[in-house]
Amino acid sequence: MSDASFPKKIDLRNLTRDDVKSFAVDHGLPAFRAKQLFSWLYRPGIASFAEMTDLPKDLRESLAKEAFFSRLTPAVKELSNDGTIKYGFRLQDGKMIESVLIPEEDRNTLCISSQVGCAMACAFCLTGTMGFSRNLSCAEIVDQVCAVSEDLRENNLGMINNLVFMGMGEPLANFDNLIKALTILLDELGLHFSERRITVSTCGLAPKIIELGQRLKVNLAVSLHAADNDTRNRLMPINLRYPLEILLDACREFSLPRRKRITFEYVLLKGVNDSDQDAVKLARLLHGMPAKINLLPCNEAPELPFAKPGRQRTDTFQDILRRKGFTVLVRSSRGADISAACGQLAAKSSACETALKDDKMP
Ligand code: SAH
Repeated sequence: MSDASFPKKIDLRNLTRDDVKSFAVDHGLPAFRAKQLFSWLYRPGIASFAEMTDLPKDLRESLAKEAFFSRLTPAVKELSNDGTIKYGFRLQDGKMIESVLIPEEDRNTLCISSQVGCAMACAFCLTGTMGFSRNLSCAEIVDQVCAVSEDLRENNLGMINNLVFMGMGEPLANFDNLIKALTILLDELGLHFSERRITVSTCGLAPKIIELGQRLKVNLAVSLHAADNDTRNRLMPINLRYPLEILLDACREFSLPRRKRITFEYVLLKGVNDSDQDAVKLARLLHGMPAKINLLPCNEAPELPFAKPGRQRTDTFQDILRRKGFTVLVRSSRGADISAACGQLAAKSSACETALKDDKMP
């Protein structure tokens, strides 16, 4: 018998509510069953079809024959001395990804991965040095959120309030799965996050920024890191493809309909992009843009030829931007002791903690 006679079971966590509807129709089920089934998939702690008690028994049995829903359980859980928790998940094919929980006084932010490794090769990012392995499926993105929610619940640590796509990988390079995962995360019968509580971070895939803005209303963060093309070309190869002018045009298009502010991330690299002139250039570049700026003093690593500037330099850089009227925060990177800080994920084991500290979402 050929493999085709043994079709692989379908992972229902790869399906949006509409997809589940089509699945149900294909199997001769009424629409209300699709709705029921979809909402069961995201009930906290759910582990099997047998638990879906308001579905008829024969339906539960036939579902179990044809389908499953994936779950991730943490293979590693590390607690940083600042309270950050790094979760390591082993995927079906043995590859590892990471998610980082950043607890704060009034909320928990979860930083999730979108790819195994990353192809963008930014010079200052350890995740970039590990290269690209593969895209995560929609289910693998959503499962990170489900798994961490369950862990928080079991330990009475509250719930996830914010989600940031700032872990391993470039989310906009895994666009279709990203959109599907976001659709489930936003669905009131799915994980039911508000658009204001989800931020997608990108190194600058300009056309996809525009497309994301057209499809969904989530927040956008742009990893800018330089205010002129020469510097940015050296730090971020993506800039050769989408230089600053094109990137910023895309940002303007993204934010226009909603007048939302975009977060611009700027890693401060000593002697590379941290001078007064750089700050002035950055202010000029973002002039008129609905922007807030996060300054991230570089997380140093022996493998990386960069250092973070001193306190004084960082403060002066921030002051210059503030005086030009920008909202500027300096992000202390958290979780560094467990390699959970920005750009450190799964390089040793890296995803990102993005220290969205005291950043109240709009
Ligand atoms: N690929 C997406 C998502 C990753 S977010 C993006 O680039 O936005 C990870 C964040 O950590 C990015 O802003 C990245 O630039 C930042 N980062 C990477 N290496 C870092 C380092 N050594 N120090 C501080 N921040 C770093």
